Amino acid sequence: MLRLPRFSYLRPASLAEAVAMLADHGGQARVIAGGTDLLPKMKRRQLQPAVLVGIGHLDALRHLETTASGAVEIGASATLTSVLKDSGLARHQPGYAQAAGVVSTPALRNTGTAGGNLCIDTRCNYYDMSEEWRIASGSCLKTGGEQCQMASSSPRCWAISSSDTAPIAVALGATAVVVGPEGERDVPIASLFRDDGNAHLALGPDEILTRLRLPAPDGSRSSYVKLRRRSSMDFPLAGAAVALKMDRGVVEGCRLVLGAVASQPVELGDLVHGLVGQRLDEEAIEEVANAASRLAKPLDNADLSYVWRKRMVKEIVAQAFRQAATSQAAAVP
Ligand SMILES: Cc1cc2nc3c(=O)[nH]c(=O)nc-3n(C[C@H](O)[C@H](O)[C@H](O)COP(=O)(O)OP(=O)(O)OC[C@H]3O[C@@H](n4cnc5c(N)ncnc54)[C@H](O)[C@@H]3O)c2cc1C
Repeated sequence: MLRLPRFSYLRPASLAEAVAMLADHGGQARVIAGGTDLLPKMKRRQLQPAVLVGIGHLDALRHLETTASGAVEIGASATLTSVLKDSGLARHQPGYAQAAGVVSTPALRNTGTAGGNLCIDTRCNYYDMSEEWRIASGSCLKTGGEQCQMASSSPRCWAISSSDTAPIAVALGATAVVVGPEGERDVPIASLFRDDGNAHLALGPDEILTRLRLPAPDGSRSSYVKLRRRSSMDFPLAGAAVALKMDRGVVEGCRLVLGAVASQPVELGDLVHGLVGQRLDEEAIEEVANAASRLAKPLDNADLSYVWRKRMVKEIVAQAFRQAATSQAAAVP
């Protein structure tokens, strides 16, 4: 049985106190929300914070609010199950609801949170091995070593962004609200993610993601399609998120974001720009899906062959476009 390392648990009474606790402990403390990603990582000694600051109980972080126009604000500690039960979110932001609904399993979604999902650690076949295996094989960049064990000549860490909700949040143009000792700041969600598997979040050690704002869809539709080994439970091997605005079959605006093919969600902006003004028929969908697959560079450090995952990008992108194109844009009163 894997046991947790020793740590102190702090239970702040407010968000301000949580920030102060993080600041007091420098880089030694880490936020814990549902703990469904962090605690397994601690058991495998991938992460060993001396102090955990709990935020899952703070009411200020658990709200979920949909406006009449369909804009949604999701508190970072809202559980994925509560997100899924929200009828306003399902109606106006179906792509986000689809992504939240395929994260891990129902039991983990009852505990895992929306904010925790955006902030989960990156993954890699090497880094995710047991501690004994890693000790026997040598450290990697992510565990304090001096070289990437998957690409030994590379100066950087290639661990993969594996959040299901991150790609759709980027496609929807969401904003993350972050609070730290200097106060609150709004971060366009795409800027929260960095192309570095070892330092993938643009968050200071004493900063907390407090909420996610999804803008009103303004007539656009969204969808998320995930590739995984088992449909009952598994991290994404690739994900395709689409936000699409159409008028009588013609594309007015579009965003396509791939997940789990790099250390951050990858937006294919130039590719879909060419769709604007075009009729979105099956031929156009095939063309864009083929091009997305050519551009995708899944890494050779995840489950199954990266060649197959690259090929499958075409299938999930096509599915995501078909779903978005055939779904109804929610009416706004
Ligand atoms: C078996 C298994 C299968 C899984 N499958 C999937 C999957 O398919 N897709 C997927 O996306 N995830 C998956 N996960 C990971 C995880 O369950 C979910 O991503 C979950 O939403 C994480 O939320 P949490 O609240 O439990 O995060 P935690 O474990 O509490 O935190 C995760 C990380 O985020 C940081 N953090 C949490 N909240 C905040 C905040 N508000 N501000 C700043 N930092 C914060 C923590 O410090 C930690 O580093 C799986 C996990 C397991 C164990």
